[in-house]
Amino acid sequence: HNNMGWGAESSAPVLTDDVSLQLGITHSVGSHTVDRDVLLQDFEVIETIAFPKAGTTLTPHHTFDDFRFKSYAPLAFRYFRDIFNISTEDFLHSIGARSLIPIGNPGASGSCFWITHDDEFIVKTVQQKEASFLTKLLPAYFMAVHQNPKTLLPKFYGLFNINIGGHNIRVCVMNNLLPRRVKMHQKYDLKGSTFKRKASKSEREKKSPTFKDLDFVDFLPDGIKLEFEYYEALKHTIQADTRLLHSFKIMDYSLLLGIHNETLEAESRDKEEKQSIDSEGSTVTLRGSKKPRDRSKHISLNPTTLQNILAKSTRPERFQIAADPWGGIPATNSNGDKLKIYLGIIDILQCYKTMKKLEHAWKAIIYDGKTVSVHRPGFYKKRFESFLFGTVFRNLPMTESLRRLNEK
Ligand code: ATP
Ligand code: CA
Ligand code: CA
Repeated sequence: HNNMGWGAESSAPVLTDDVSLQLGITHSVGSHTVDRDVLLQDFEVIETIAFPKAGTTLTPHHTFDDFRFKSYAPLAFRYFRDIFNISTEDFLHSIGARSLIPIGNPGASGSCFWITHDDEFIVKTVQQKEASFLTKLLPAYFMAVHQNPKTLLPKFYGLFNINIGGHNIRVCVMNNLLPRRVKMHQKYDLKGSTFKRKASKSEREKKSPTFKDLDFVDFLPDGIKLEFEYYEALKHTIQADTRLLHSFKIMDYSLLLGIHNETLEAESRDKEEKQSIDSEGSTVTLRGSKKPRDRSKHISLNPTTLQNILAKSTRPERFQIAADPWGGIPATNSNGDKLKIYLGIIDILQCYKTMKKLEHAWKAIIYDGKTVSVHRPGFYKKRFESFLFGTVFRNLPMTESLRRLNEK
């Protein structure tokens, strides 16, 4: 596993080893010491570091091929991590303390994904057009997030390029939306479209498949019920987010939704406990791994889903409600099962052929109405929202909402 290689089947080079990536990120983030306010020019800075095998006075020696590592807008990204209270030390620890864990090839685009050992960050390979689109988006995107901490847009914490053997591999680092430590009973990638929006046979055979729009309607025809307060907060957050996406004529994004079913979880725990009593007489010994984990100690670096829709500031308090340190939104299904849902908008860097022309300022994307059909992004937004807030999420009637709140 420790050799650097390229996947053979794909036309684009595929990074099958993440060690040099990890080295590049930790080194470039760790050695970046400029400390001042961000200027608009900082968004265009690209820092390049050479990593020859033998090492230099600045870089360690290593056992992979020589590589060159580029860090895009390092100061701007540092500032962005600051907004979310993620210190350089924490970031380096998440990325560098242990190996990145590959999470297969979940999308159809051929991107590779890794997750950090502590569940905090996702590293995704992006195409060149996506990377250059992100750099153009950055100033407006930072401004939006700074103004409004309530957002379910992906949080980009870094953009890098590793050049090795003449190939460029670009990766972005973002927040992980679905903590692996929480069992997701169902996962969905939702767009509000019905065309081909059904998980493939091979996807459905996976241990933890990601279902799509048509599957949702099939499995949860009555949707997911949210209390008034949460429904409204979620709706307002997503409306503001899609407004920003619309202003950049972005389409094809998805809502990634993970559903944890607390009722099912409790039932299966009871069953396990009962089984261990049956087989071992009166001695109830829960094997270590089956003990409900003490999750109250978990403090996540990233704002949780709940904080993303309710936040009053971009610097959320780090101590979280002991009842649910993972910060899922409480919900119910039509059986009355208690759920916790985790969600966010993903895949917003999709580019269009026409966008290739936009090598100049990000302003062009906003003002040049001819580049992309003016109506399509608006149509996409509307359809996305009406699917989410008509079909997927249902508002509990106010009175029932209040009754439930009182029951708590
Ligand atoms: P395509 O363009 O074919 O839709 P892609 O390669 O661009 O795919 P995404 O749509 O970004 O990939 O993501 C694919 C899957 O990866 C998602 O359905 C989800 O399971 C997982 N994933 C992506 N981003 C995140 C995230 N931030 N947190 C957790 N999981 C994620
Ligand atoms: Ca996608
Ligand atoms: Ca994509």
